[in-house]
Amino acid sequence: MEFRFFIGTKAIFGRGCLAENAGELKSFGDKAFIVTGKTSGKKSGALDEVIGVLKALNISYCVYDGIENNPSLENVSDAGEKAFQFGADFVIGIGGGSPLDAAKAVAVLAVNPIPPVDLFKNTFEKKPLPIAAIPTTAGTGSEITPYSVLTRKDLGTKMSFGNANTFPKLALLDPRYTESLPYNVTVDTAVDALSHAVEGYLNRRSTPVTDVLALEAISIFGDCLSDLLGKNLTLKLRDKLLYMAMVAGMVISHTGTTVVHSMGYSLTYYKGLPHGRANGLLMAEYLKFNLAGAGDRVKKVYERLKISDADEFKGIIDRLMGTRVELTEEELNSFASQAAKQKNASYCLWNVTEEDVVKLYKSSLME
Ligand code: NAP
Ligand code: ZN
Repeated sequence: MEFRFFIGTKAIFGRGCLAENAGELKSFGDKAFIVTGKTSGKKSGALDEVIGVLKALNISYCVYDGIENNPSLENVSDAGEKAFQFGADFVIGIGGGSPLDAAKAVAVLAVNPIPPVDLFKNTFEKKPLPIAAIPTTAGTGSEITPYSVLTRKDLGTKMSFGNANTFPKLALLDPRYTESLPYNVTVDTAVDALSHAVEGYLNRRSTPVTDVLALEAISIFGDCLSDLLGKNLTLKLRDKLLYMAMVAGMVISHTGTTVVHSMGYSLTYYKGLPHGRANGLLMAEYLKFNLAGAGDRVKKVYERLKISDADEFKGIIDRLMGTRVELTEEELNSFASQAAKQKNASYCLWNVTEEDVVKLYKSSLME
């Protein structure tokens, strides 16, 4: 047995955790650059609370609230330039995966005058600024992963970078900040977290430790399912979903994702599907795909979700997420060719060919 386990983030979880641990921010310096989305910082209440804490600590700050969903290189480059001009000591990311991923790019670009495309080289002369991550969705786990997923308009897809230095130094997880999430975003992001756990479990880089974490996250999703289906979105449920997303984030920090995520990127880029929804529509067929070679593992996933097979899973996803998306034959072939080349496709339990990907898209979306 051989494995490594490393999470470079101090995570503090609980309602009111920011105010109770405000002093943690002071250790990062006197100038904070806040990176958030157009509405998420304000709607969640997190931005006001952060500003209140910074004022009390005498930390000066600058707010950049222009992060797009699925942020592009151009978008993070603009924010990085502003952080450089401000002379930030550290970065605070507030929002869903989009602003948190953007915060990682900003932390690099604020101290490294490189063309933004060089982010993907993954080696930087100067260490990125410290990042404090405050999630307002319960899904990506970005607060505890080193990854930053960015949209490449030049290539027509999404691509990620990240190394041991891009883990947020601090994650403050307060489930109250997810209470303002609409139902559809709650579901999409929860399904994204489930997808991280399932893909991390059916993954050639899984370890005994990530397996324990993945099964824990899958079980929690199973426990939350009836409330999600019944739209019973209590704060107690929000606690569980945020915890599940964090645990699943710890899984993919080690395993990465799989072909489900690489296939999902085109559904987001070309068809406008939210990230979690894209993965959700593909996950049932990924489970079936693994049945032949990893049947025991797939059955364990069903057990933890308290379901009997992939068809039942598909039915649940349909109830949670509604209608499917249609692809033309041309889209199908070009998406498959892109997805098969992505790095995360190579983390599946065995080699996945372009033909396999075509079949997975077809059975997921067109049958
Ligand atoms: P998101 O794009 O960050 O946010 C989705 C929507 O929810 C946005 O409209 C956002 O508003 C809104 N929102 C967020 N928090 C809210 C709140 N508390 N109340 C009301 N509205 C709120 O979605 P996400 O699914 O969390 O992140 C997706 C991104 O993360 C993708 O780019 C994906 O590729 C990436 N990702 C990263 C990792 C990783 O390990 N780093 C893993 C998986 C996925 P605003 O527009 O105002 O922000
Ligand atoms: Zn994801």
